[in-house]
Amino acid sequence: MPPDSALDLLNRVFGYPAFRGEQAAIVDTVAAGGDALVLMPTGGGKSLCFQIPALLREGCAVVVSPLIALMQDQVAALKELGIAAEFLNSSLDNAAAMRVEREFVSGQLKLLYVAPERLLTPRFQSLLEQAHVALFAIDEAHCVSQWGHDFRPEYLGLSALHERFPNVPRIALTATADTATRAEILTRLDLGAARVFVASFDRPNIRYRISEKSEPRRQLLDFLGEHKGEAGIVYCSTRKKVEETAEALKQAGLTALPYHGGMDNDTRRRHQEKFLREDSVVMVATLAFGMGIDKPDVRFVAHLDLPKSVEGYYQETGRAGRDGEPAEAWMAWGLQDVVTQRRFIDEGDAEDAHKRVGHAKLDALVGLCEAASCRRVALLSYFGEASQSCGNCDVCLNPPTLWDGTEAAQKLLSAVYRTGQRFGAGHVIDVLLGKTTEKTDKFGHGQLSVFGIGATQTDKVWRTVLRQLVVRGLLEVDHTAYGALKLTAAARPVLKGEETVMLRAIEVRPARSKKSRFAPSSGEGVHNDEDPLFLSLRAWRRETANEKGVPAYVILHD
Ligand code: ADP
Ligand code: MG
Repeated sequence: MPPDSALDLLNRVFGYPAFRGEQAAIVDTVAAGGDALVLMPTGGGKSLCFQIPALLREGCAVVVSPLIALMQDQVAALKELGIAAEFLNSSLDNAAAMRVEREFVSGQLKLLYVAPERLLTPRFQSLLEQAHVALFAIDEAHCVSQWGHDFRPEYLGLSALHERFPNVPRIALTATADTATRAEILTRLDLGAARVFVASFDRPNIRYRISEKSEPRRQLLDFLGEHKGEAGIVYCSTRKKVEETAEALKQAGLTALPYHGGMDNDTRRRHQEKFLREDSVVMVATLAFGMGIDKPDVRFVAHLDLPKSVEGYYQETGRAGRDGEPAEAWMAWGLQDVVTQRRFIDEGDAEDAHKRVGHAKLDALVGLCEAASCRRVALLSYFGEASQSCGNCDVCLNPPTLWDGTEAAQKLLSAVYRTGQRFGAGHVIDVLLGKTTEKTDKFGHGQLSVFGIGATQTDKVWRTVLRQLVVRGLLEVDHTAYGALKLTAAARPVLKGEETVMLRAIEVRPARSKKSRFAPSSGEGVHNDEDPLFLSLRAWRRETANEKGVPAYVILHD
């Protein structure tokens, strides 16, 4: 019998008619013994990129995977298809582990999934010497990045595989890698000679909508009202909020179920099964829900709280519309969420360098929330992908109020430049505000001509200007240099006055507090005059209105 081709295996073993996107090229590369780095969004079909080469090559593929649950799911699915696959992790007892080890060494397996910490033990290394290894697949390869949220120290040891087994091809796969992380994966895994395959991260059937939070519960119900009878996920940041929100949705007549890590296993499994089986369950969940959930017809993902990063947002919203049919990603965010998250980062026990990265990642996400033009373009550009305005997101459909921020942009870009492009957001803004700090003293920044040129505006306003400039690509944040801001080529024409920069006005919804002592007046509704954000915005509007006649913020009305 002639050897199977990759396509035969895809049809006959996996039951799919055709490869998707770059799958065929990736399979060919690895099957022929080459190394590959694969960047493909979740649900794109990364597993087949190593599973088919595993079947095409002599020996057993060793798959490194960080999550026990994912390992077990994949192995179960492979066994269903009649493929000799096993896993080795802490969930196996000794006898079972020894049986798997024997099968591995004696050549009875085609795929063996292993946790990274086990792979690097002397015991496993000696098994590797005895077995015939077809290839190494390193799944979730971004875990090697120290700047990411999923850093796994054991991943750093994986470069040793190549030293010991130089002739075994390697394939590293990830769905979450901005350009800096990508470079880091290549270096740390010693994949310099690998072919890099980047699939598009665009999910054209997902519509993105991001709203300012005013009355989150009501806003959520309005949103869900547009998705009656459909299945979806509502993400909340805490268990308590999950419980409360699920309860409120039930009261409103929806089939809503809570899901979080504090619930007992049985209940969790029951809720998950109901969600998978039925058509119109709303799962209200913490991030504990979603990993490895493969439900194609999730019609919406709603966020009642900000994720930690653009990667997180992309992953979570990516669980909608896997079937390619129209789906919606909706989020309500407020500056209070940002404050809470910042405090959370600062109070954590990570090193300062990691905290700075945490802040920079959060800034990028807030930048997406504040995008003055197409959200899809902003989202994809985060992953280094250029695209056209989608015409379908909330910003494209309802362009926000803009103000001429050219002068503000020039001031900020100058401050970055004059301080040597070595400092992060906090310090640059201190310089603009003319705030004397230990750092301004140490570096003599109090003497610079840019010191205090932004003193008429507030820290909050400078932060939104800064985030928007990052989103536009006028400034970049160097994650490998602790979040230092650097000018890009695009900043030049702005500094030279050849280009104007229109920025998105900050939206403030007047507080609806019954306790407010202030009656609605001057057509601006009721606002809480003690809110520092409101005060600073009022001041900012006065100034900008004086200069340009266009306010930097708008007050929303219901
Ligand atoms: P990833 O690891 O990239 O998140 P998976 O490998 O888990 O994605 O695949 C996601 C889903 O897509 C799975 O249900 C898989 O069977 C399916 N899939 C992958 N490749 C193809 C293909 N060529 N044709 C049809 N379905 C595919
Ligand atoms: Mg995967």
